[in-house]
Amino acid sequence: MWARTEWRIVKWMIENLFSAKVQAAAPLFVRVILMAHTEIVSPKLLIVKKFGGTSVGTPERICAVAQLIANSLSQGNQVVAVVSAMAGETNRLVGLAHAIHSMPWGLEYDMLLAAGEQQSVALLALALKSIGVKAEPLLAHQVGIRTDSLYSKARIKNIDTEKLRRFLEEGTVPVIAGFQGVDETDHITTLGRGGSDTSAVALAAALGADDCEIYTDVEGIYTTDPRLCPKATKLNEICYEEMIELASLGAKVMQIRSVELAAKYRVPLHVRSSFSNVSGTRIVGETTAMEDILVSGVAADSDCARITLKNLPDATETLVGVFGPIANAGVVVDIIVQNRMEDRTIKVSFTVSEVEARKVKAFIEEELVRVFPQLEVEMELGLGKVSVVGVGMRNHPGVAAKAFAVLADIGVAISLIATSEIKISMVVTRSALRKCVERLHEAFGLNEKENPIKPPPGDLLEHHSTMS
Ligand code: ASP
Ligand code: MG
Repeated sequence: MWARTEWRIVKWMIENLFSAKVQAAAPLFVRVILMAHTEIVSPKLLIVKKFGGTSVGTPERICAVAQLIANSLSQGNQVVAVVSAMAGETNRLVGLAHAIHSMPWGLEYDMLLAAGEQQSVALLALALKSIGVKAEPLLAHQVGIRTDSLYSKARIKNIDTEKLRRFLEEGTVPVIAGFQGVDETDHITTLGRGGSDTSAVALAAALGADDCEIYTDVEGIYTTDPRLCPKATKLNEICYEEMIELASLGAKVMQIRSVELAAKYRVPLHVRSSFSNVSGTRIVGETTAMEDILVSGVAADSDCARITLKNLPDATETLVGVFGPIANAGVVVDIIVQNRMEDRTIKVSFTVSEVEARKVKAFIEEELVRVFPQLEVEMELGLGKVSVVGVGMRNHPGVAAKAFAVLADIGVAISLIATSEIKISMVVTRSALRKCVERLHEAFGLNEKENPIKPPPGDLLEHHSTMS
């Protein structure tokens, strides 16, 4: 469009080459063209690029990341780099602490865990230096990333951006340690496992960055876990809310808090791979086009158990009396269903992870039976949870009915159901989980998407979080 307008003006100038009008307009025209070209053809963007543990897992990877940053700079962008610890390093530090104390916690522990990121920033800054890029390695206290004092799950309160802007103006790449902060008393804090994502989003929000790129070892967010369903495809776009649901349902790509923060401050996210050049998944605010897609993703959680409590008194305080002590014991409960029975008792079922199930059953048998002597406890292991997620279901009826029909069709019984505005979760036996995912993925039209991806090695059913 712009080129055509330019061409018309140039033609007019040639036709009127010797007129006074052209002689007066030419210098201005040339200036405008030059400005427009730098603004439109190669706009200068401020991009926060966050590199996860595998992206900086080896010296070779760190050099590749440095090159990736250099390429972005050569396109005229300003770059702020945020890094995680090298893959496996934080886990190694956790192991060291546990070898010394049975329950390591507090400022010593956070100081220890934050050490992994210090290595990465120094190494990445060194790699940038080695290819002639000006860079400054920065720890959280040097940037002024202020947090509260909730060790191991601190929240960022404030970021001092003045220093960062000075670096950016002089063409220096700030290389910032993710995952860490500093509290009011200058103690080092950490933001919870996977917290570098939150550091990156907070920095992007504070700086008003044009983009926040989350570099990882997968190519983006998929319609479902490719280890469970080979027809999984990469999504080009997903909205914050869907991503938050998927992350809370077990998609381990990003820390949930970072997506919540991005949604709050409308930070555009781009999850992509540092191992390839392809564009990944953009996480953005909801658009009207998204409303027509009923289901964007199918999530599966293979670690699920059900606890059922029978013969509880039908009284208003009962649920508080049951779940208060369970919460105090530190157990995270997922789906809860309550039934009023004809004999005026209450039956309550809830789901927890398998490890928690054993713990909670023992706890109930020891503690709760004292308060509720008639109480009977049952435990069912070997369950899984399959969920369909999509903002489209907010405005379209029939998604639940369709999901139930799909499972009925393959003879799978649903033992518990939970819904939110944009999600339907169903608890089934673990052995049926894979089939449920495949069928739901197909029934909601997700198989038809283009570019199916190769399943990465490993199997979700034995998969555990691989945070650095
Ligand atoms: N290194 C930290 C962790 O493994 C933070 C992060 O990787 O985001 O949890
Ligand atoms: Mg991570």
